[in-house]
Amino acid sequence: MRYLLSNLPLNLGEEALDLAKPLAHALGGAPKDYRDVRLERRSLDARHKGAIRFLTTLSFDTDRNLVIGPLPGGLKVDPAPAPTPYAVAPPPRRPRVVVVGSGPAGTFCALRLLDYGIEPIVLERGPAMGERVKAISTLWKDAVLDPEANAQFGEGGAGTFSDGKLTTRIGHPATRYVLEAFVRFGANPRILYLAKPHVGTDVIRRCAVLIRKEAESRGAQYRFRARLTDVRFDAEGRVRAAVLDTGEELPCEALVLAPGHSARDTFEMLHRHGVAMRQKPFAMGVRVEHPQDLIDRSQYGPSAGHPALPAADYKLVCNFGLNRAAYSFCMCPGGEVIQCSSEEGGVVVNGMSNEKRDSGFANSGLVAKVNTADFGSDHLLAGMYFQRKWEQAAFRAAGETYGAPAMAVQDFLKGRATGRLPRTSFRPFAVASDLSTCLPDFVQEQLAGALPTFDKKIHGFASREAILLAIESRTSSPIQLLRGEDGQSVSHRGLYPCGEGAGFAGGITSAAVDGIRVAEWIAQTAGAPVFQP
Ligand code: FAD
Repeated sequence: MRYLLSNLPLNLGEEALDLAKPLAHALGGAPKDYRDVRLERRSLDARHKGAIRFLTTLSFDTDRNLVIGPLPGGLKVDPAPAPTPYAVAPPPRRPRVVVVGSGPAGTFCALRLLDYGIEPIVLERGPAMGERVKAISTLWKDAVLDPEANAQFGEGGAGTFSDGKLTTRIGHPATRYVLEAFVRFGANPRILYLAKPHVGTDVIRRCAVLIRKEAESRGAQYRFRARLTDVRFDAEGRVRAAVLDTGEELPCEALVLAPGHSARDTFEMLHRHGVAMRQKPFAMGVRVEHPQDLIDRSQYGPSAGHPALPAADYKLVCNFGLNRAAYSFCMCPGGEVIQCSSEEGGVVVNGMSNEKRDSGFANSGLVAKVNTADFGSDHLLAGMYFQRKWEQAAFRAAGETYGAPAMAVQDFLKGRATGRLPRTSFRPFAVASDLSTCLPDFVQEQLAGALPTFDKKIHGFASREAILLAIESRTSSPIQLLRGEDGQSVSHRGLYPCGEGAGFAGGITSAAVDGIRVAEWIAQTAGAPVFQP
């Protein structure tokens, strides 16, 4: 019989050894009594800094009669659940589907449509990977922006030049489908059991190209530098065709809108058509960066530097009441702060890392909640214009360049100009500036209020080595397109809002899962049997 043992502590490095030994130690018998032992989950337990360890869940076969339920020491034995088949049955008819966006949402929507035998056309406004990498290198080296080829637009979407964290809290069965796809296309299989799976931009770039090639070999058509500029609807508001920037029209019954949160022209076009949407809160602030060893020392204590420990991360929150809070966002251990602008005359920063997370720097968004009341207007796209206004202020603060305005944390707290900036990974260059010119007052106040609290939790967080770079504004979409239970827009049939830009995801894995859900809705609308996980 197959079992699961959860909460089994393992010392650092021990999970690389014969796992039957700690099993036998915990459950009795000899190691040979436990067969096909597999790590199902591993998280880091750093509560006691002098004795950091992993907490694991193992699955295994044994002929021994185990007692099901809790055991001393917090251990627990359960029967291993039978694997849930994530089945598909093709629909009786295959609709013509156009997917807008090759980010995680569009990509996984296309893959899942192919499982159903539906061959979509995928439109991507940016270029394929090779050309995209060149455009981004030019931005990061020479401070020259291509508004259609950057960290937001191009093959693989926004997640491609990212930290590649695949963590998600959504407990949807498609999460496994997504992680297994990444493994099939080259990611390290450990992402299947790590509590905080991470692949890094180097791996994700390779995976994105391989996934696209597989989708093409199965019948999907990818069109790069192909921007959706309009949609044709019939008199009842039903989708008839996607219109490209060249004027070409692609007839379709289903149009999946997965354009990410930076497709401002696309949202304006949808708004002109009266597509149902609402304002959505998001967060805004700066990137904060430290030397990685400062974070390691604070999080790991005397264990810092142990070869089995990853570059340390953190998660910080400071609540101010009345729906106000400042918090760390999208923390990138061993990563770099990157230039993420996609509009001329605006500066946006974010963070990314390689698989090894070995840059020597740690960064995270340090952001404050922006409520819809802060937008200052009832216009449905007011949040988007609010973001743009402050991105343009950051551009000006950087001397009208695509550098990033920056300040030492200590100077930000004392309200004085920074002379010499702390070391930073940011490229093309950081410009010592007054960040009060490019952050709303309420954001500045909350960041300044939170930093001393964070410094108590992470020793050195507000030290002389800490730098702030502006502006972190694209944390999530400032709007949500409204969709019904069948995934279609509540105002326009055949229109399927999808992923982060449409307000249904926040991160790579949740966007990918949303793409899969949309594919299933399309297949079911075409008559495919409903999948019951
Ligand atoms: P996107 O990935 O934004 O993809 C949308 C695609 O649509 C783009 O390629 C765009 O070019 C295309 N498009 C837009 N408009 C049109 C149009 N009109 N016509 C045709 N194509 C169009 N998330 C994590 O979970 N973990 C991380 O570590 C992480 N790190 C990040 C680091 C950075 C630097 C950034 C920018 C984001 C990061 N994220 C991370 C967030 C994550 O990337 C997004 O949540 C995710 O990519 C959203 O997926 P999506 O498919 O909905 O949209």
